[in-house]
Amino acid sequence: MFDGIKFPPGALFIITTLKDKGKRCYLVGGCVRDLLLNRSPGEWDLTTDAAPQEVTRLFEKVIPTGIDFGTVTVLIKDIPFEVTTFRRDERYSDGRHPASVTFSKSLEEDLSRRDFTINAMAYDPVSNEFVDKYSGAADAGAGLIRAVGDPVARFGEDGLRSLRACRFAAVLGFTIEENTFAAISKTLPVTKKVAVERVHDELVKMLKAKKPSIGLELMKNSGLLDLFLPELINCLGIEQPPEYHKFDVYWHSLFSCDAAPAGNLVVRLAALLHDISKPACKVEFTFYNHDQTGAELSAEVLKRLKFSNDVIERVANLIRNHMFDYRPAWSDAAVRRFIRRVGIENLDDLFSLRKADTEAMGRNIGDSYLVELKSRIDKIVTEEHALHVKDLKVDGNDVMRELSIPPGPKVGETLDALLEKVLDDPAQNDREVLLKLILELR
Ligand code: ATP
Ligand code: MG
Repeated sequence: MFDGIKFPPGALFIITTLKDKGKRCYLVGGCVRDLLLNRSPGEWDLTTDAAPQEVTRLFEKVIPTGIDFGTVTVLIKDIPFEVTTFRRDERYSDGRHPASVTFSKSLEEDLSRRDFTINAMAYDPVSNEFVDKYSGAADAGAGLIRAVGDPVARFGEDGLRSLRACRFAAVLGFTIEENTFAAISKTLPVTKKVAVERVHDELVKMLKAKKPSIGLELMKNSGLLDLFLPELINCLGIEQPPEYHKFDVYWHSLFSCDAAPAGNLVVRLAALLHDISKPACKVEFTFYNHDQTGAELSAEVLKRLKFSNDVIERVANLIRNHMFDYRPAWSDAAVRRFIRRVGIENLDDLFSLRKADTEAMGRNIGDSYLVELKSRIDKIVTEEHALHVKDLKVDGNDVMRELSIPPGPKVGETLDALLEKVLDDPAQNDREVLLKLILELR
């Protein structure tokens, strides 16, 4: 089993140490799944029959991460390993956390509390013992997400599991086994009670998948999307001008999200939500102002889903600006105003969004104009043209002195007016010239 895999020395050390004390210890959960699928594990979780206090005593650096739930973090050469005592979960009262946990002497019992068969395998790399009571390896081979035990009961205990099912389907490119899938819609009232922060985390993980559309479509078909992102459901069946668009707004949004770079959460979110206001703005085949109202609506949606203000602002800014209509005839001043409006730091993201948007129209519309716009932008940026008031060669003090006025709105208005002149003609950003201009603007 797992020939040729290099296991982290820290994990091997923990397992050997515990086994020397007569205990059992296995790699478990996500890491075993990922090894079987030839993916590199994000973290190496271990499970043992030793009590948390015992684990704590055996190793030098141990953090009591979740000691009440049996989890401690053992640091070996500063690399963290989560070691959890075999557990049995009892009664879920809030649909999320077990009301109590009891420790168990049985690995099998511990595996039975885990959510999916592919997450319920354990492996001891020292003795090469592989424990797969629920045929997780077969399901991994078949690309199936299958609940351990009765799916309705399991999703009824913990409503987060149905979202995890959709997330794993997207990330691994798997399908959800039929009965497991059917259980999602039967347990929606439980999932509805899950803390939004947990939902947020699952969405973020789903958005890192090669194709988030797999997970989102499963969420739609099971009723989960209706709970957490009903705005996207409103996009279903909203037709668009066929010469530009092959898909309705719902599918266009999902495919845009797939086409956006997987590692860029902000662009992925912007791609998913950029047309979210189209249903409300639709008049025949036009969607007037959907960029502005879409920015506002997405900010609302993302706030509800507990995204940070920074993410919300950046996504809204991209959506607000996603309809820019570049033509070679744009003057340099127009390019400078475009850079200022979008913000230099957001331009790469806006271009990524536009590429994803164009690709997801499904009509082979080229985007080579972006190369031209980009090179014009690069030129302006390297020439360090003034784009903001702070880039002007004069400041508020100069304005107040030249005009003999006290601080007030007039100072800002004057600076804005100077900037407009400089955007039109960068040569005007010269201290002597601007000081003269201040007097003329009086
Ligand atoms: P990833 O780390 O990629 O998100 P993972 O499977 O490792 O995937 P974790 O949340 O790290 O997920 O959980 C580790 C293991 O704990 C899982 O593999 C699974 O066995 C178990 N587990 C996690 N969450 C649940 C849950 N809600 N219900 C039952 N078992 C769970
Ligand atoms: Mg994990």
